[in-house]
Amino acid sequence: MKKDASRRTFLKLSLASVIGMTLGGKELISPAQAADLPHLTADDPQAKALQYTDNSPHEDKKCSGCALLQGEDGAEWRPCQLFPGKAVSVNGWCSAWVKRP
Ligand code: SF4
Repeated sequence: MKKDASRRTFLKLSLASVIGMTLGGKELISPAQAADLPHLTADDPQAKALQYTDNSPHEDKKCSGCALLQGEDGAEWRPCQLFPGKAVSVNGWCSAWVKRP
């Protein structure tokens, strides 16, 4: 059980690292552009695959605390590195959630 959790955490961090290296830690869009992004919905195929919901079932795991969230603090909907071209709710969650360092 513990080994599975460690493996899962390792895989999530690896994914986040690869994305971070790919993006160079830079925001790809401006705050104004981010505000115009369409909202990600749970019926989007990639959202379904990662069990995304805009209302996290976890009290301590929300997009607002995820290392993959981008954009400006204070915005209700923000870009996410895993869903280019869409905005996710800061109160959302998906199975790729990685704790912000
Ligand atoms: S929990 Fe999922 S949807 Fe939310 S910011 Fe992290 S990777 Fe993106």
